Amino acid sequence: MKLARFNETRLGAVVDDGTALVDLSELIADLPHPGWAPAPGDPVVARLPQILEQAPQLIESAPRLPLADVTLNAPVATPSKIIGAPVNYHAHLDEAEADAEIHHGNKIAKIDEIGCFLKASSALFGPGAKMQLPFINRRVDHEGEVAVVIGHPGRRIKAADAMDHVAGFALAFDMTVRGTEDRSLRKSFDTSAGLGPWLTTADEIADAADIPFELTVNGDVRQSSNTRLLIRSVPQLIEMVSAFYTLLPGDIIMTGTPEGVSPVAAGDVVTVSSPLLGAMSVHVID
Ligand code: MN
Repeated sequence: MKLARFNETRLGAVVDDGTALVDLSELIADLPHPGWAPAPGDPVVARLPQILEQAPQLIESAPRLPLADVTLNAPVATPSKIIGAPVNYHAHLDEAEADAEIHHGNKIAKIDEIGCFLKASSALFGPGAKMQLPFINRRVDHEGEVAVVIGHPGRRIKAADAMDHVAGFALAFDMTVRGTEDRSLRKSFDTSAGLGPWLTTADEIADAADIPFELTVNGDVRQSSNTRLLIRSVPQLIEMVSAFYTLLPGDIIMTGTPEGVSPVAAGDVVTVSSPLLGAMSVHVID
């Protein structure tokens, strides 16, 4: 199933080859609205098994909304963590080591040495938002990626069991200011974490290690790869990060960017797409 969040608070199933939505919001209408100290994690993703069971009946009977008539938002509303995987494709490692504008004198450490990093959840944006450059005079690069969304919570998850904890997949932008600062600054500015266009649930993805995807800027292909080329696979990433922290429903793991990163400028339209996950375009503004 392809589950979208739209018009901020509504849940829909994407149908008819991505042209229409069925409103499923009644399946989450009874979620509590805690005023203070809500439980961490995303309550809609936590309820996914129930939604997948109940949605087919609604999809049969409910009216279709044209997708063009709604605003899509990031399919996870309240992740407790957005986790990034640095330099997780060999060909991106090679280009980062070769280009001083990318490495800025930093040693490009391999993912096996430095593990993962966190992006602020306030950086999250969806297909309906614009990507705003934080500086006018610094290089900001696109990083197109495949993201994994955690469904079933867990810690100390073994790679062999990791896929049981996956709710689904989406496309991601890990937008990055190049420079010498820590990644948690450079990759956490507002609108640096794009997720969309919807959540494709894990049952629709036969192999997490065979998801093709590409990124274009104004229609020119800049990045084109496949998750089969990841240095650390999806199960290995889940094992690594869950050794440090409990993964909660809605947690997002951006699995890393392939080669082809390049700067974006105000006015650009950046699109990340996959035949399995849909397409998400954002307008860059300053
Ligand atoms: Mn990245």
